[in-house]
Amino acid sequence: MSSLPPCPHCQSEYSYEDGAQLVCPECGHEWNPNAAAPSEAQRVWKDAHGNVLVDGDTVTLIKDLKIKGSSSVIKVGTKVKNIRLIDGDHDIDCKVDGFGSMQLKSEFIKKA
Ligand SMILES: [Zn+2]
Repeated sequence: MSSLPPCPHCQSEYSYEDGAQLVCPECGHEWNPNAAAPSEAQRVWKDAHGNVLVDGDTVTLIKDLKIKGSSSVIKVGTKVKNIRLIDGDHDIDCKVDGFGSMQLKSEFIKKA
């Protein structure tokens, strides 16, 4: 078995060496494993109170959230299970019961 690290883009385990580079056959990403600075890869997501969030966490809203393009409002205190952390302005990807998939800002939620 190969002990090469998985692709940082798609997590594919089929990365292979090409000179000093590692190459992912699935998404085409090439990277240098020795240049991967931990500081760059270690983004930390925090809720409104500074608690560190991880994939799969359950959180609750700390304010009412209006849904874009509708008159619906997700009420403060709504529980959201199994969040996924993503990069971006809205940094939480999740599914809210009764509302469907959406993206939230970590500053408007707290860890349950
Ligand atoms: Zn990949």
